[in-house]
Amino acid sequence: MKLLEEILAHNEKFVGNQDYEKYQTDKFPNKRAVIISCMDTRLVELLPQSMNIGNGDAKVIKTAGAIVGDPFGSVMQSILVAVYELKADEVFVVGHHNCGMSSLNAEAMLDKVKERGVSEETLATLEHSGVNLDQFLQGFDRVEDSVKHSVETIKHHPMLPSDVPVHGLVIAPDTGKLDVVVDGYQQ
Ligand SMILES: [Zn+2]
Repeated sequence: MKLLEEILAHNEKFVGNQDYEKYQTDKFPNKRAVIISCMDTRLVELLPQSMNIGNGDAKVIKTAGAIVGDPFGSVMQSILVAVYELKADEVFVVGHHNCGMSSLNAEAMLDKVKERGVSEETLATLEHSGVNLDQFLQGFDRVEDSVKHSVETIKHHPMLPSDVPVHGLVIAPDTGKLDVVVDGYQQ
């Protein structure tokens, strides 16, 4: 059975058995928080469990590396929507140790892009039209620095209300232990 079929077969039972009942809530976060974290598979359940976040408690945004790079990109857009439209009033950036983005090498990834059939010409056209591929595929050296940078991008955003605390944390993907990099109440 292919994955989509597996998912749909499970889904039919899930809905039929009314397993959804225990998850029912509304779109407003009970803890009035927005969490930006990494898409890492180890964090799917560990992160909310380790932070005591249940269904309905928070808005959760996942990206590779919990990076907020573009102040007018979709991640920042989501944060602003959460704050203005969904009653969130606190932001948590949660990076993690041993993150795939800490070892991301743009050059090596571009080699893989080419091996999978994307032509040199296509990449050259992108570069000529103003896309900086090295920057687009940039990771980070230290997760603490990356978290601090993301916190600053959010905190100094011209459209973020100044009374919204923005915290920076790093989680251990094996134990769930959180370390504070930026305490947003001290800003
Ligand atoms: Zn990661």
